[in-house]
Amino acid sequence: MIPYGKQSIAQQDIDAVVAVLQSDFLTQGPVVPQFEQAVARYCQASHAVAVNSATSALHVACMALDVTQNSLVWTVPNSFVASANCALYCGASVDFVDIDEASGNLCVGALAEKLQHAYEAGRLPDVVIPVHFAGQCCDMQAIAKLARQYDFKVIEDASHAIGGRYQNTPVGHCDYSDICVFSFHPVKIITSAEGGMAVTQNEALAQRMRSLRSHGITADPTLLTEPSHGPWYYQQHALGFNYRMTDLHAALGLSQLTQLDQFVATRNQLAQRYDTLFAEVEGVTPLAQSDDQYSAYHLYVVRIAHSTRQLHEYLVTQLRAQGVFAHVHYIPIYLQPYYQKQGFKPGYCPASEAYYHSAITLPLFPSLTAPQQQQVVETLCQLLSDWQHTHTAHKE
Ligand SMILES: *Cc1c(COP(=O)(O)O)cnc(C)c1O
Repeated sequence: MIPYGKQSIAQQDIDAVVAVLQSDFLTQGPVVPQFEQAVARYCQASHAVAVNSATSALHVACMALDVTQNSLVWTVPNSFVASANCALYCGASVDFVDIDEASGNLCVGALAEKLQHAYEAGRLPDVVIPVHFAGQCCDMQAIAKLARQYDFKVIEDASHAIGGRYQNTPVGHCDYSDICVFSFHPVKIITSAEGGMAVTQNEALAQRMRSLRSHGITADPTLLTEPSHGPWYYQQHALGFNYRMTDLHAALGLSQLTQLDQFVATRNQLAQRYDTLFAEVEGVTPLAQSDDQYSAYHLYVVRIAHSTRQLHEYLVTQLRAQGVFAHVHYIPIYLQPYYQKQGFKPGYCPASEAYYHSAITLPLFPSLTAPQQQQVVETLCQLLSDWQHTHTAHKE
């Protein structure tokens, strides 16, 4: 079976983890700050806060931006549930902005329209979380313009996008956002097994996230609200969590970071080869890519023309039966039973639903070979042609 995604672990990664195992600190040691500094440098961000997952990073990012029970957070349906759950963790309400079907990313026109309605209704969002789907950046410049106009904060969910660029600046630079979040889950671009990071140019936000990832506790003498009781003294200032990353995970992440540019370059080459192979194939369209960005290509997604639920299910099921582990990203979040219980109904974001029933994620990872890509493309083409034959035969 060709998987849809797969981590690349080199000897240097193994050595880095073993070195930490043999050191004095398995957690709260020197490697986490080293990893943070390296990511901050890579993204040209002033601050980076490592946590145990992107889900945790999204949670502390929302809290740092004062998301509470009275807040309203908007994100897109075409994402992993964590992009919306982070708002609910804070007791806030969540709502969804529809996507652009061709790219799978937030549709700026839909956002502008929804903001105008929200303005008229007197219920503007406090935070908007665009998701850089499949590794391609949203139109952040346009989103930032709306953020100024309607006064909301922006968290980039860049779980798919570390190593990508927007307007020739690294994703995570936060030119157009308050905080940007990365995931280091093994299917993503680089991995720390589990892990995430929030980067920002704002020192106060970084400090709040740092406190929240470790119980809301500080021992920093400049932050104490009363005289220290002695060298053991610390204070709890907020209700935080244990969201810390361990040094073992950070060592893996730091070692992977040195290979990030190579991973992304390879992913781009493989995506281009798929694009070339599919250029001849009618009815199979790769995701649209915009010119002002360099995708990290977390996922390679194609859309099937005139797709129906039956055809979509047939293709993904048969691809898997024939050794190609195709996947679908994503079931619109609000269609999840948990979200439907909160009142969301099918039909709410039509482009996200149409996209969902036509999109197939094909295998993409740095060690994917040319013959495997050939097999993926040939299998999909054969299935499409089989389907067309049986379905035209019925009609005749
Ligand atoms: C993977 C992912 C997350 C969650 O990442 P974890 O590190 O597994 O918590 C959040 N948002 C998106 C878009 C993701 O793909």
